[in-house]
Amino acid sequence: MTVIFKDLIEETLSKASKFINNNKVLVRFAGFALVSVIALVISIVSCGITVGFNVEYAGKDIAVVKKVSVFEDAKASVIKCVGTDECDAQIAKPSFSLTVTTKDSLLCESDMADAIIENTDGISFSSALTVNGKVLAYADREELDNLVNTALCKYYVKDAKNNSTFVDDVEVVEGYCLSEDIKSSEQVKALVSELKVKTVSTVTSETEVKYSTKTIYTSKQERGYQKVKTKGEKGLKTETAVVETVNGKETAKTVLSRKVIKEPVQKVVVKGTAIPMASATARAKAKSAGFICPMNKSSIKMVSAYWGDGRGHKAIDFAGDVGSPIFAAKAGKVTFSGWDGNYGYAVVIDHGNGYQTRYAHASALCVKKGATVSQGQQVAKLGNTGRSTGPHLHFEILKNGSQVNPAPYIGY
Ligand SMILES: [Zn+2]
Repeated sequence: MTVIFKDLIEETLSKASKFINNNKVLVRFAGFALVSVIALVISIVSCGITVGFNVEYAGKDIAVVKKVSVFEDAKASVIKCVGTDECDAQIAKPSFSLTVTTKDSLLCESDMADAIIENTDGISFSSALTVNGKVLAYADREELDNLVNTALCKYYVKDAKNNSTFVDDVEVVEGYCLSEDIKSSEQVKALVSELKVKTVSTVTSETEVKYSTKTIYTSKQERGYQKVKTKGEKGLKTETAVVETVNGKETAKTVLSRKVIKEPVQKVVVKGTAIPMASATARAKAKSAGFICPMNKSSIKMVSAYWGDGRGHKAIDFAGDVGSPIFAAKAGKVTFSGWDGNYGYAVVIDHGNGYQTRYAHASALCVKKGATVSQGQQVAKLGNTGRSTGPHLHFEILKNGSQVNPAPYIGY
């Protein structure tokens, strides 16, 4: 106030002096005039009236400031607040004019800054999404809050206790920005979706427990006999674990507890091992028919199914590796070689005297229909084609068009 007072006195004195110099006629009244002016200044100061600079900005009178520097300082703080030098171009050039005003009407620097922002179209109040302190996007607060919440919930596990955080330091803050920097909903959504979300979920899950199978062999039943004594039943267990994921991918898991709710029931199967006794004569007769085993003993892993086998299996199955050679059990003529539905790739040989043999589920065929083959000649390669659950040879002997148990014919 002292400064203003002093300035005004000096200004008034200077004006008075000029007045005296220019108006010699009135000099004699100088003393009286001086006293009058001083009295006037004192009355102005005591009433709270002062001089200032009217700020005309973007075609409007937006403020009165004590000094021009108040505007310049406010402009600098607006640029700092928006955080980009490009902001400078958005702020219009003001014009100042000296004016008389009340002291209460003078704007301080921060109010001046607010007035600049309010009257500058290119600057907007906005919320910003920051990642590790850097602005990722400017957008509406509600929109940002919604997107952030949606992103955090995205990898929640249903019916679990979930807690999510961003891997980076993500914040929504208020501030000013260039209006052109405000992103559209789609743009912000795309940016937010790229943020990594760490979700920690306490999950309790139920899983089935497989049952095991026990095979009981009995010599009281013939080979091929198979009966399920006890049906297997799956068990049930629960597991509670804290699972940590980043964008849905599991990164850590700590099992808190495991509990078996229901124990599995073991499946029990009874299989016969007895060689059919009715066959003493029949076996000798079968053997005399002159068939040999269609596979090398070394390439037979096991007999995976006998005749009958509790399911009307009309063949003998030899499990082995894909590609193992399959031989003609007896010399004859190939009457079929190709794809045959459930049999997969198969070969049928006619041996005369009403006998035929079938070799099924092959991976490759080595003979063509119409070919004459000798006993022991390779006709196919073992495979897993057609209705087959594992690599094996399904070998049939047919007599007058019907399958007969091939085991006694080939010494099994
Ligand atoms: Zn079979």
